Amino acid sequence: MKATVLLYHDVVRAGQFTASGFQSPDANIYKLDEDEFGQHLQRIGQAARRKMMLVSQAADDALMITFDDGGASAIAPIAGMLEQRGWRGHFFITTDYIGKPGFLTPAELRQLRARGHIVGSHSCSHPFRIHTLSEAELDREWSESVRILEQILGEPVTTASIPGGFYGDNVVRAAARAGIRDLFTSEPVRRVEDREGCRLFGRFSIQRATPREHAAALAAGDLWPHLRQRLLWDAKKVLKAVGGPVWLEVRKRLLAKRAG
Ligand SMILES: [Zn+2]
Repeated sequence: MKATVLLYHDVVRAGQFTASGFQSPDANIYKLDEDEFGQHLQRIGQAARRKMMLVSQAADDALMITFDDGGASAIAPIAGMLEQRGWRGHFFITTDYIGKPGFLTPAELRQLRARGHIVGSHSCSHPFRIHTLSEAELDREWSESVRILEQILGEPVTTASIPGGFYGDNVVRAAARAGIRDLFTSEPVRRVEDREGCRLFGRFSIQRATPREHAAALAAGDLWPHLRQRLLWDAKKVLKAVGGPVWLEVRKRLLAKRAG
């Protein structure tokens, strides 16, 4: 089975990063301006060769849209903008932050669900490097966050996304123990994997700087523009850490290759 899953975070009024989600320069990289997000949805709608789906109805080759962290922008503007197109999304909630400034309240979570969106767990505390936690800590992150959401929503919660880019089998096993059946990662892959009793869905992360054409290409099934950008970014990060001259040399070669 394959799926193309887009990963967004917050959507804010022109640069007003404090309005929604986590507050840090790193978090702001993932916050799109409302106008730009509207353009993304429009281009995705034009380019997509398949219907936007929910994981609960996912057929092979599904296209899905997800939002991490549980920032306040999920309810407005994001949910309304999706609904205008007849789409529904998946919202993954960091439960320790429910009701805090810039994050969704319990009433808003119920409203999202009532409007047909999927509400799932994104852990309790959004741990940095979740795969390094002990079994007991992992159990708390998944079981406790699922329990809190189930209490708020009054129904079983079986969907979650993993905070941060890293995960291992220990993270997946603990999620399965907490009753999670559909688990979204940040691996840029389309193949859906069965592991430890969970269906694992990869996702393609969209940042503020991601061109809307890349989102559209992903929706159309063309992963290459997005992956190339990501590879370049990753390579740049590593090479900058290693040393400037090495990076400059690689850059020169890449540019020469592109020209030729
Ligand atoms: Zn997150």
